[in-house]
Amino acid sequence: MANNNRYVECRQVLVANSDIGHVTTCPECGHVHVNLRSLTVRFEMEAFRELVDMLGFAQKRLDADPALRDAETKTVSVSGIDSAVVRH
Ligand SMILES: [Zn+2]
Repeated sequence: MANNNRYVECRQVLVANSDIGHVTTCPECGHVHVNLRSLTVRFEMEAFRELVDMLGFAQKRLDADPALRDAETKTVSVSGIDSAVVRH
């Protein structure tokens, strides 16, 4: 990027598409854009890779541990609060 003080709109090339949104990349700056309906989050390539790794890890845990999918009462740690009970 030639000028970091000025916003330059990225050129978006479609990488993937699904019912929940789409992923594009910009060949000029290398960012990856995750577009989910009205929400767009832009990642540097390595941060996007880390996000995908984390989501994959979370999905493996959810698939492997039925207790994590239990829709009954769960205890969740919340910053500044010892615990909170969340009911779904
Ligand atoms: Zn760009």
